[in-house]
Amino acid sequence: MHGDPSSARAPGPAGSGPAGGASEAAARAAALRALLARYDHEYYVLDAPSVPDAEYDRLFLELQRLEQADPALIVPDSPTQRVSGQPVEGFGEVLHARPMLSLNNAFEDEDVQAFDRRAHELLADQPEAAGDIEYSAELKYDGLAVSLRYEHGVLVRAATRGDGTRGEDVSANVRTIRAVPLRLSAAVGALPQVLEVRGEVLMFRDDFRRMNARQRAAGEREFVNPRNAAAGALRQLDPAVTATRPLRFLAYGIGELVGGVEPARHSLLLDWLAALGLPVGAHRRVVRGPAGMLDFYRAMQAARADLPYEIDGVVYKVDRRDWHDVLGFVARAPRFALAHKFPAEEALTELLDIEVQVGRTGAITPVARLRPVFVGGTTVSNATLHNEDELRRKDLLIGDTVVVRRAGDVIPEVVRALTERRPPPDSPEFATRFRRFEMPQACPVCGSAVSRGEGEAAWRCVGGLYCSAQRKQALRHFAQRRAMDIEGLGEKLIDQMVDADLVRTPADVYRLDAATLAALDRMGEKSAANLVAAIDRSRTTTLARFLFGLGIRHVGEEVARQLADEYGDIDALMSEDWARRQADKAELQKENARRRGRGEALLPVPLEGIGPEITDSLQRFFAEPHNREVIAALRAAGVHWPVSAPRAAADPAADAAAPAGALAGLGFVLTGTLPTMTRDEAGALIRQHGGSVIGSVSRKTSYVVAGEAAGSKRTKADSLGVPIIDEDGLLRLIQTRASAPGDDT
Ligand code: NAD
Repeated sequence: MHGDPSSARAPGPAGSGPAGGASEAAARAAALRALLARYDHEYYVLDAPSVPDAEYDRLFLELQRLEQADPALIVPDSPTQRVSGQPVEGFGEVLHARPMLSLNNAFEDEDVQAFDRRAHELLADQPEAAGDIEYSAELKYDGLAVSLRYEHGVLVRAATRGDGTRGEDVSANVRTIRAVPLRLSAAVGALPQVLEVRGEVLMFRDDFRRMNARQRAAGEREFVNPRNAAAGALRQLDPAVTATRPLRFLAYGIGELVGGVEPARHSLLLDWLAALGLPVGAHRRVVRGPAGMLDFYRAMQAARADLPYEIDGVVYKVDRRDWHDVLGFVARAPRFALAHKFPAEEALTELLDIEVQVGRTGAITPVARLRPVFVGGTTVSNATLHNEDELRRKDLLIGDTVVVRRAGDVIPEVVRALTERRPPPDSPEFATRFRRFEMPQACPVCGSAVSRGEGEAAWRCVGGLYCSAQRKQALRHFAQRRAMDIEGLGEKLIDQMVDADLVRTPADVYRLDAATLAALDRMGEKSAANLVAAIDRSRTTTLARFLFGLGIRHVGEEVARQLADEYGDIDALMSEDWARRQADKAELQKENARRRGRGEALLPVPLEGIGPEITDSLQRFFAEPHNREVIAALRAAGVHWPVSAPRAAADPAADAAAPAGALAGLGFVLTGTLPTMTRDEAGALIRQHGGSVIGSVSRKTSYVVAGEAAGSKRTKADSLGVPIIDEDGLLRLIQTRASAPGDDT
């Protein structure tokens, strides 16, 4: 860690330090400058930052504070005094007609209030500035700045920001971005002689994920984030490579303008740019005073996870452009604008240990124990490491400094280790502080053997219900709201019951009496009676809930519902010959392929979306005598559901009419939390329009509808190239297909 100022103790406030404080501060400032210069190089030149932005911002702020306390520390090439970045060799150089600056940052509400106060002070002799100042509030796109020069409406040159004065000529590359018009629209009047449009080149999140999946498949370097991927793509020396990268552009301002009337307000300027045919972000608003700015900030913070691209904050700009000249500039940024940053989604912390957890199906998951760190708005101290391969791929050592990410409500994850911060492997420090983690050879809970199936990522404890960890998880799964819905039977109670050996299988739950329950910790007679009543109520259920509650591998809610619909009762399911069913289905699919070729109506395929992985799992589950016993015991205990006639066994040819509706013939997988509908509601909507909802993603899936915190299904869709849409996309799809009947592409 020697020579790394980020690990050094922050100096005390100026003047209060010990003798020699001044030289200590000077040394610290120099060290910070050197470190920031290194990070700038990685970020702006190599497009491969080694630390999260929050770490950079923290060090930058520390340097700023040192310089404020003692202005003698300021040197002209301090990153606080100039726009960072530099043009890369290989591109022509462009001298900006007007410098391209950075923005001053605000992290706290008070910084926003101070910004508004300063504006009032500097506009003191402007009578109209006496009341609330109006600001154009917009998003802070996390991409890279470019300047597009249009002469008489024609794109003649595009340049990066570079060091603010000199940028790189990336004209050929920018021309490959479809969002950038090569010619402006003259619909709103005469085009200016010269118009320099400024905006951000960025990559949408979905595009980024798909691109990284392709990079991974081709064994090529993956990008750390969409911002750096966009920067790397734009600064390719070969425009043909840029053309294959999914770049977008959003305009947010102008530089030089010759021969045109400048709109008087920034908000009107953005409207004008949009009317000229330039893409301008839709999330913008004119707000009044600090309260208006902060309202916008909070609204956008809430909307952030649903945006198709990344933003790292919002930007406020004094709306009246004549006041921009009055307010002017400081060294590297205008005084009329402010970037208000969101809490960081990535932060650095230490990997203290790795432990393993045993899940419901016996999967052994390594979990990172972290030095608590504030990231994505909460304090994170644990993060899943998924499985052994992930762990190896990330090359994590206990003791590493790691990047932790928590975006929106997505569960926190360890992104990578800062391997360069490790001491040499033969040093004593390495030997005492760093350790490699090995997956346990036996289940840490019950001591049973662990095994890893072919093609599986996870090691599993083979103990099944002998393993108390699996028993606890299985019971939690059974009792949950979406399954048997036994109110009051929560985690703590289940742990106690299993530890005291009161319940071994879900059927045992129905044998519990109030006296036994009342004797448990934190249970009174009243809550025991309530629980007995809740258990009793759960006897009346649906087949779908019951099936889901059994916790059969790969049988989620959607698959359970489909099985219940098709089979009507559990006996039909238990006696099904799954291998034959799978073979019949393959035959039907072949027949449909032939019919499709002939343009004939297709036969409905039963169990659409229930692939061999699921049927194998059903086969294995129902073949296990122990599972049959549990099902029999549950039924004997009075668990029941309405029975319906089976559909799956019916002759499919008897019902050869093609399904009707806007989504007929399409299969959807739902994942994550949608903004306004529950997944059940979305599923009902899809079915209502003739589509089918399937449990797992395959090449045949038509669409994945993904909401917030979508996980592995989304990743799988990405890797298979299955289109991913959001709730809005689903609604649009229904609308467009409803108005274009017969089009089932
Ligand atoms: P910045 O990115 O914080 O802000 C200025 C930029 O914001 C502009 O150049 C423009 O490109 C962009 N922007 C987006 N939306 C805008 C809008 N609506 N209006 C105006 N501008 C808009 O400043 P910067 O100087 O480009 O970069 C500094 C930041 O980059 C740091 O705060 C840090 O987060 C990051 N950085 C990280 C590392 C690292 O190693 N991780 C290194 C260097 C910089």
